[in-house]
Amino acid sequence: MSKVIFSNISKRFPVAAGAAAGLAVDRLNLVIEEGTLVTLLGPSGCGKTTTLRMLAGFETPSEGAITIGGRDVTNVPVNARNVGMVFQSYALFPHMTVRENVEYGVRLLNLPRQEMKDRVGSVLATMALETYADRSPSRLSGGQQQRVALARAVVTQPKVLLFDEPLSNLDAQLRERMRDELRAIQLRLGITSLYVTHDQSEAMAISDRVVVMRNGVIEQDDTPLNVYSRPGTGFVAEFMGKANILNGRIEAVDQSTLSIRIASTVAFTLPRGSRAFRPGEEVRCVVRPEHIRVDAEGAMQAKVRRVVFQGAYVEYLTDLEGQECVFLDSNYYRTGVAEVGQMLRLSVDSQPVWI
Ligand code: ADP
Ligand code: MG
Repeated sequence: MSKVIFSNISKRFPVAAGAAAGLAVDRLNLVIEEGTLVTLLGPSGCGKTTTLRMLAGFETPSEGAITIGGRDVTNVPVNARNVGMVFQSYALFPHMTVRENVEYGVRLLNLPRQEMKDRVGSVLATMALETYADRSPSRLSGGQQQRVALARAVVTQPKVLLFDEPLSNLDAQLRERMRDELRAIQLRLGITSLYVTHDQSEAMAISDRVVVMRNGVIEQDDTPLNVYSRPGTGFVAEFMGKANILNGRIEAVDQSTLSIRIASTVAFTLPRGSRAFRPGEEVRCVVRPEHIRVDAEGAMQAKVRRVVFQGAYVEYLTDLEGQECVFLDSNYYRTGVAEVGQMLRLSVDSQPVWI
């Protein structure tokens, strides 16, 4: 069993006199269920790496406790925790071959020679690295080097696997491929994993759960689907993807629906959420660009300010009666591409992700 539990974990770094309080992580509670991959997502400096390093044992929490598989590891040294780590920089040994790099991972375990050879061979096969086994890592591509780093981390059969921005050094296409590869390997091996990234699309693609952090605090801990489409806060709504922030006014509240007036039109009629709204109340609605579409019958009218052709879709930046409104049109090949200055009628396909 290797379920991970962070209980009320805080980390305070010493700060120079007069500087702001050095609280990098603030009373964090987090569970990583056995065999799942949880991602810490958030802007630079929000405490992701510090959280990961406390699980690895490189940092000691100022308060709270961490358990792995029910064992309190809060004060257990790094080498006695049985965790594997994969970094952005790969951290491979350039003077060793691929095989030697992977062997290095298990050497400390003092296994019988044959078992070590078997384990290394099997991991090299899993990672499709057999043909490169006797090469120097410097003669491999970035993606292959990252696979070696992963092989070296999993060869010890760790209870927990930790990733800190492992794909940041790769170019966009390779990053997507490696992302899918990492996830496939993690699922196949069933290793409980904590993954750190600032890239929301990477987080959504790879995770069982996404934990959005801000200033050392968890803003939301949820499935990828929910953090994107049911964000708990405005910060999460905006951080998870492109978002229009439209000012509106509550027009009507009845038993089951809520109507919101954006500019001169009633834009949304939606099921009432948990929060109570009053008629006349000013609200901020977060609407995803892909939920707005060109519609001859649409109630909203917007003037095209900029047209960005993206192949799979056209992105329109428009002026919706004084408010900036971005949306995507993936039907342009049938209807044609609008021009700057043109008026478009729009409708909203879905309720705002956040009010
Ligand atoms: P992230 O990985 O999300 O970018 P970090 O966990 O690296 O963020 O950092 C969180 C906060 O803690 C930042 O304000 C950072 O400056 C501070 N911090 C991190 N490590 C140290 C350290 N060793 N000493 C002092 N402050 C640190
Ligand atoms: Mg970091």
